[in-house]
Amino acid sequence: MRFEYAPAPESRDVVEIQPSYGLFIDGRFTDGGGTAFKTVNPATEETLAEVACADEADVDRAVAAARKAFETWSALPGTERAKYLFRIARIIQERARELAVLETLDNGKPIRESRDVDVPLVAAHFFYYAGWADKLAYAGFGPAPRPLGVAAQVIPWNFPLMMLAWKIAPALACGNTVVLKPAETTPLTALAFAEICVQAGLPAGVVNIVTGPGATGAALVAHPGVDKVAFTGSTGVGRQIARTVAGGRKKVTLELGGKAANIVFEDAPLDQAVEGIVNGIFFNQGHVCCAGSRLLVAEPIQDELLAALRRRLATLRVGDPMDKNTDVGAINSAAQLARITELVEAGEAEGATRWSPACDLPERGYWFAPTVFTGVAQSHRIACEEVFGPVLSVLTFRTPAEAVEKANNTPYGLSAGVWTEKGSRILWMADRLRAGVVWANTFNRFDPVSPFGGYKESGYGREGGRHGLEAYLDV
Ligand code: NAD
Ligand code: MG
Repeated sequence: MRFEYAPAPESRDVVEIQPSYGLFIDGRFTDGGGTAFKTVNPATEETLAEVACADEADVDRAVAAARKAFETWSALPGTERAKYLFRIARIIQERARELAVLETLDNGKPIRESRDVDVPLVAAHFFYYAGWADKLAYAGFGPAPRPLGVAAQVIPWNFPLMMLAWKIAPALACGNTVVLKPAETTPLTALAFAEICVQAGLPAGVVNIVTGPGATGAALVAHPGVDKVAFTGSTGVGRQIARTVAGGRKKVTLELGGKAANIVFEDAPLDQAVEGIVNGIFFNQGHVCCAGSRLLVAEPIQDELLAALRRRLATLRVGDPMDKNTDVGAINSAAQLARITELVEAGEAEGATRWSPACDLPERGYWFAPTVFTGVAQSHRIACEEVFGPVLSVLTFRTPAEAVEKANNTPYGLSAGVWTEKGSRILWMADRLRAGVVWANTFNRFDPVSPFGGYKESGYGREGGRHGLEAYLDV
């Protein structure tokens, strides 16, 4: 029997979206020199607001404001910087509902996720790094570690506010000032964060937000006044940025793509594993760099596990992201939908078997049904390339050694999951998996205390935890 759910829409009225937004430079909202662009709600294709575009002169102004603010901000005692960060964290909690709604409208992710995962983690990140601000001398980076200066930060659209928090909280705690560029399809929560900086009384110029397309990001990372570059996004752009800063003095951290293996052994608790597989690849529509996009299942349990997975997927509710019962929301943009569609078509053309549960997709907006491919070979594009969508590729293995070999057979190395009852097997696997994070009997679990980052083409540097401080200190 299937339970039907009555509509449970979250209210849009908790957020007031302005018709247009400026850049946030030196504590004030200002016009941009480039051509303003629109950001849409991907679930309806409705225009939400017009947003200013920063050109090179605007980027230059923002870097100059950050440079000036650095003199006083870096000279403050850590206890004083901590007060601002604690204040920001508390305002985020107070405005949590508004931020969650704004994130869901601009990004397309289910309100259940922005409300219960994204925004709480954003506040937690600021609380966590506020706690470090006056303890940097005890962090293991020398007795008096110094900040780097002005940080240029470029972030993607999949976790707009969370990626902002991962970048801004440690930078400010360590005494740096920042210029951040949000993704062009999801600028609204970063601009709400600019308001929060004003509300918290943060000194002008400590945080600057410049909106615009890739060209704005390119101008920012290339600016000679920048001391540190932090980027999260695609491996292709990451490579370009690495080339831009090569040979210079800028410190760089790159958080790029992934193609994680989620490995289920025959002794795994199956129902729990099914939940973990679903969370691993259908959380945030699969727009997750550490998504468990390759399911590696022990051959003897393949049929049983896939039957349970299909039953579970038939109960996923795909649709209106503002409905509190929705599990899978909208694809973030037409461009991303086109990329997913292209790779899925390649999967079929290469001979894998495609399956989706029956689901009615809304007529307007960008949608893709949860999809599972079986009969996948390691050489298929859907097994090698990051789909960055709700698409799971299923492969099998016979021995733990074969599972390790297949899991590591990727240019990426961001995360992995292991499902088994045996603690010794978890440790044996974790030792051999070339992935920055290995989850055991869980997946996509985040905590500000835990460092996050990749091997190989997934990038370099760590964000989160004590390790995350190192990226913003002169050590
Ligand atoms: P992208 O790398 O193009 O964009 C990420 C950010 O970089 C955006 O703010 C963008 O404006 C900016 N940017 C683009 N070109 C730039 C340049 N030359 N210099 C500086 N900044 C630049 O990513 P995308 O197009 O949004 O997504 C494409 C793919 O990236 C996805 O399919 C996925 O594989 C990957 N991705 C990974 C993550 C992650 O968390 N690791 C997040 C989003 C996307
Ligand atoms: Mg948008």
